[in-house]
Amino acid sequence: MKRILSNPFTIFYIVFAYVISFSVWWAILLFNKNETAYREKLLLDKIQYVKERGTEQGFAESTQYKKNFSKYRRQKIMIVAEGAVFITLLVIGLIQVRRVFAKEIALAAMQRNFMLSVTHELKSPLSAIKASLQTFQKANLDPERKQRLIDNSMGDIQRLENLVDNILFAAKIDRGSHGLSSELINVSQIVESAAKNFINNKKNIKLICNVEPDIILKTDALGFASIVVNLIENAIKYSPENSEIDVVLKKGDEKVCLRVADYGIGIPDHEKNKIFEKFYRVGNEETRKTKGTGLGLYIVKRFVELFGGRIMVKDNNPRGTVFELEFKSA
Ligand code: ADP
Repeated sequence: MKRILSNPFTIFYIVFAYVISFSVWWAILLFNKNETAYREKLLLDKIQYVKERGTEQGFAESTQYKKNFSKYRRQKIMIVAEGAVFITLLVIGLIQVRRVFAKEIALAAMQRNFMLSVTHELKSPLSAIKASLQTFQKANLDPERKQRLIDNSMGDIQRLENLVDNILFAAKIDRGSHGLSSELINVSQIVESAAKNFINNKKNIKLICNVEPDIILKTDALGFASIVVNLIENAIKYSPENSEIDVVLKKGDEKVCLRVADYGIGIPDHEKNKIFEKFYRVGNEETRKTKGTGLGLYIVKRFVELFGGRIMVKDNNPRGTVFELEFKSA
């Protein structure tokens, strides 16, 4: 019982049931009232008729009877039609309210998960960096081990930086003050330098970059870099060790196309639209095993839209995911 009452929808359903039964009850009352009024008027008319003619014969064919009956029928139809319209609008309104309510509850749950994810995401690279520094401090390490520790720590710092950038970008987008500029930028350089940061990844995933040099786009350098970083970071996160990721940037007649393809866990068709929602993470076991905030693709999609481009997500062959982005050439 306590569980049922603590469900936020219980009160909603109670109100819903009450309003509907209340409306039906009023419709029945009106119906009965109309019926009684008709019967009373009929009786009075009949008395009048008999008084005037001395018999009730022919009353059913009289103008008064017909007028009265058609008024009664019209009012019956009116009650049914108005009642139906009212109940339909009421149901539509209540369904709409329920939808908004459910969305708010889901968002609140996502926000709670987000706080937990952020804490995890902050804690694990910080602990790793701390451990690396402690090893550095204590032991007399050979140069190769030192380099490995530095590479790992740089990777962790990069992850922290991306996380902080994503949180800031998401906050700015939500405030409507994303602060993006629109300048002629060499996006080939941005893609190459973003990809370079992921070459020494912990999963030993090979990045195969095919970037046409000196492609210029009217865009914002930081925003564009964030798109590339988020897509490559996800491709790595959701791919098995020792696999490959293809990063392609090429220029067509009127469009510039960016393609990031992996051979990882893939995204089920029914999730493909949802992954761009804020805080959304696919609910399968593989995603739960990875850390994340659900902000990356939200930012990617919003930035692509702000740059006047479009983003598509497809299945890769034989497995994995392909993100294809198109921008209008400068
Ligand atoms: P997250 O921080 O969880 O990675 P994103 O917004 O970047 O958040 O992505 C949303 C969800 O989309 C992820 O939780 C994951 O389930 C799915 N996803 C994103 N990129 C990929 C990919 N390359 N392969 C498989 N699933 C992906």
